[in-house]
Amino acid sequence: MAGDMRALVWFRSDLRVHDNTALHYACHACHASRAAGGDSGAGVVGLFIIVPGQWRRHDYAPARVDLILRTLRELSADLARLNIPLLIARARDIADVPAVVLETARRHACASLHFNREYELDEARRDAAVIAEFERAGLVARGHTDQVCFEPGSVRTGEGRYYTVFTPFKKACIAHHERAGGLKVWPAPPRQARTGLEPTPVPGHIEGFRSAIPGDLWPGGEAHAMARLSAFIETAIRRYKEDRDYPAEAGTSRLSPYLAVGAISPRQCIRAALEANDQRRPGLSPLEHGPAGIVHWISEVLWREFYIHITAGFPRVCMGRAFQPATERLRWSDNEEHLEAWKQGRTGVPIVDAGMRQLLSEGWMHNRVRMITAMYLTKNLFIDWRRGEKWFMQNLVDGFFACNNGGWQWSASTGTDASPYFRIFNPVSQSKKFDADAGYIRKHVPELAGIDGPAIHEPWTLPGLPRARLDYPEPLVDLSSSRERAIDAFKAIRMA
Ligand SMILES: Cc1cc2nc3c(=O)[nH]c(=O)nc-3n(C[C@H](O)[C@H](O)[C@H](O)COP(=O)(O)OP(=O)(O)OC[C@H]3O[C@@H](n4cnc5c(N)ncnc54)[C@H](O)[C@@H]3O)c2cc1C
Repeated sequence: MAGDMRALVWFRSDLRVHDNTALHYACHACHASRAAGGDSGAGVVGLFIIVPGQWRRHDYAPARVDLILRTLRELSADLARLNIPLLIARARDIADVPAVVLETARRHACASLHFNREYELDEARRDAAVIAEFERAGLVARGHTDQVCFEPGSVRTGEGRYYTVFTPFKKACIAHHERAGGLKVWPAPPRQARTGLEPTPVPGHIEGFRSAIPGDLWPGGEAHAMARLSAFIETAIRRYKEDRDYPAEAGTSRLSPYLAVGAISPRQCIRAALEANDQRRPGLSPLEHGPAGIVHWISEVLWREFYIHITAGFPRVCMGRAFQPATERLRWSDNEEHLEAWKQGRTGVPIVDAGMRQLLSEGWMHNRVRMITAMYLTKNLFIDWRRGEKWFMQNLVDGFFACNNGGWQWSASTGTDASPYFRIFNPVSQSKKFDADAGYIRKHVPELAGIDGPAIHEPWTLPGLPRARLDYPEPLVDLSSSRERAIDAFKAIRMA
């Protein structure tokens, strides 16, 4: 392989050309080789592998696969402009992936491989297997930090442990950021030497993953993600702290699907927010001092970072286990009818049903409502959080293991920095507070749209006739006694 200067970039959840660390280093390596008198074999080749077996086992939602394919199409065109062909390969399952990557490198005379690390257990093991295969073959494979701002393991407590509480973790990230003088955001690479290879056409769909969510709800590609970020920064970020909890408002960025597929990076998000921070003060970090909306939004982006660090530092969460082992002793309800009613948005609690129906119709749910629906499932119905986690993953366009697992374990009080077990949201109070005019309920539960006044939040309080006329279920459980049951169950495992 001596004399070959081609580099292979393996794209996974980083489908963009700007601020893509692996792409940056692959292109940099090729330029360095050419500058050192490299031959005409120079150039960069891109690879994406479709792995239906892995996607099924990891519960990829059809909407997420659809967004991946549409984003790949944009990525392929962007890369072609840089003379980088994007090859699309297939592997049956994750175990077959290392051989496919090595075979691609060999076939196209690539001496080095660059990829951005993923931190879920199966994915981290796969990457270790790829590196080992490349070493055996005498080739170089390098993983890069990209999905996060700070490599998991680089932000630790004074005792050298991973943080398990968000606020000190955030403080440590901010200190890192200040010491490093900010975050590095890579530009798109310059045009590369031609390889003579043609990009592989991106398939329109993958067998078994046909999405019912309209694609125009979530346009694909990096350019769209950047436009969405700019629009949010220009119009909404300053009001983020006030508006973010109201599901009927367009108060949040809706960037989560783009962060999940990597059409945008967390560094680009934070950089854009920092550029909008016009209240910088010497000696104070602009990550936590400035307009409230801006610093609050940055903090939310760092929650994502926190959960990724937890995924890397505590691999048991990737094996379906609770972060707090004592909670494994809870005996959850196996009421399948309740679970099915929750999935379909037929629980009889309007705010819960609105959220679950938003998930089915948009592939997305507002954060406040994710918490309400998750708490209702795990506390009022007392159904295992893992069953809700799976349903969310199977339906979310932004399905992302670290955030989904973190959000579910937080809501179920089984996780790190979780909501205390006795602080259970009352869905009706939440509904009255955060959807006071019921705009969100009316949109997603149209059979209740005609109810005036606060009864729309609790239609079981309506008098007999108007209530009988509604094509809407009675509540599955009594909110107060089901709440007590959950508290007692948690108390019992603490005392055991
Ligand atoms: C039960 C449950 C399940 C969840 N599942 C997912 C999931 O699969 N994928 C996912 O990306 N997020 C998940 N979240 C977190 C959060 O609900 C979404 O990130 C957020 O609603 C996305 O909307 P946005 O992009 O408008 O967020 P914004 O409010 O604009 O925030 C910007 C970004 O910060 C990150 N972020 C915001 N809030 C959180 C949070 N609480 N935890 C972690 N990261 C956060 C996201 O990347 C988000 O895109 C879940 C939360 C809960 C409670």
